[in-house]
Order: sequence, then C-alpha cells, then structure tokens
Amino acid sequence: MTFDQLGLDAELLKAIQSSGYTVPTPVQLQAIPAAIAGGDLLVSSHTGSGKTAAFTLPTLQRLIGRRPAPGAGPRVLVLTPTRELALQVEKAVNTYGRALRWLNTACLVGGAPFFAQVKQLARNPDVIVATPGRLIDHLERRKLKLSDIEVLILDEADRMLDMGFLEDIETIVRATPASRQTLLFSATLDGVVGNLARQLTRDPQRIEI
Ligand code: AMP
Repeated sequence: MTFDQLGLDAELLKAIQSSGYTVPTPVQLQAIPAAIAGGDLLVSSHTGSGKTAAFTLPTLQRLIGRRPAPGAGPRVLVLTPTRELALQVEKAVNTYGRALRWLNTACLVGGAPFFAQVKQLARNPDVIVATPGRLIDHLERRKLKLSDIEVLILDEADRMLDMGFLEDIETIVRATPASRQTLLFSATLDGVVGNLARQLTRDPQRIEI
C-alpha cells in the first residue's frame, strides 16, 4: 500500500515524497482514510509510530478542500502535553503543508512570551498547536475564539491526563463547536482516557495498532 492510495491531495503527496517516506506506517494506513471520511477516531499509538503525520495529513486535506471565510477563527486545534511536543507538531504541520502557501500556524505553549503569541494570533492562524494551560490563558484574556474549530486533535491524551490537564481540556472543548471532528491519540485507550474519549467523541472508530 502506498500513500497515493490513501485519498490524499497531490500537494500533500509531494510533501510526503520530499520527506523521503515511501510507505505509510500501520497507524497512517488506518487513520488517514478514516479521518478523511470525517468521523471521530480513538487511536492507540506510540511516539515513533508516525502518529503525527497520521493526524496532520488528513487534517490538512480538509483545510485544502475548503478555504476559510475571511475573518474566520482557527479551524484546527491540536492539544499536546508538552511544549517540546507542541513545537514538533507545529513543525510537522508546516512541513507537510509546505505547498499550501496560505497556511498559517500558531504555537501557544507555556514558558514562551505571551505577547509574541498574541501577535501570532493576530495573523489569523488556521491551525493552533497548544498546551492546555497556555491555551486557557489566551481564552480567558479573550485573545482567541474556538467557535470555528472543525477538527480537535488530542495528542498523547494519556500524558495530558497524567499531568493534571483534565479540567483544562474540558474547558477548552466546551469552547469548540459540538459539530467538530475529534481525533484522540494515546498510548492507552482504557481507564481515564476511555472516560475522556466517551465524553469528547461521537460514535468513534477505534484503531489499535
Ligand atoms: P511520530 O510517531 O509522529 O513522532 O513520528 C516518528 C518519526 O517517523 C518522525 O521522525 C517522522 O518523520 C517519521 N515518519 C513518519 N511517517 C513516516 C513514514 N511513512 N515513513 C518513514 N518515516 C516516517
């Protein structure tokens, strides 16, 4: 199975080729077509499985399909447990999305200057990658609206819960539309992650690698 059988746009296939990838990883094989179909996903996957591309590629595909209305808020929100992971995900979005000249991202993480992030938000990013605590700060100071979010991605959901982010995640999700697509990635899908998944997703497809 090759990437061009997964339903991805030519612009994205070019970026994949430049990254030197020849075959999709197992999580990509399953998650990419399922996410393109539009439903919610619960995916068990570890670092190194290719999970970042598994959620980034179908999400970019959706952005390509329909450009935003002028003045619209961000359409994609990725939550990650740590600053380092957020920066890696933002980099991946820009790598896989390099052919999309209009694509604009913002990375909202703790430990970085707040005002620089406010400036990023003023440029109307399409994609926000954030850690939950700092995103809440921006919401409380009314620097950001999440009412146009179409895709919500939780990366390493189990680690976010381990770090005590449950309440922040719940607050953030309440600010997004119920009509959103939710993609939850986690090393485990049981226990507290399972409870969170039931709360956030509708009729999700479960993918276990
Ligand atoms: P991740 O699990 O998202 O942290 O990705 C792990 C590493 O695998 C990253 O360095 C990616 O660049 C790389 N990678 C992702 N997908 C593929 C693929 N299909 N073929 C080869 N390498 C990949």
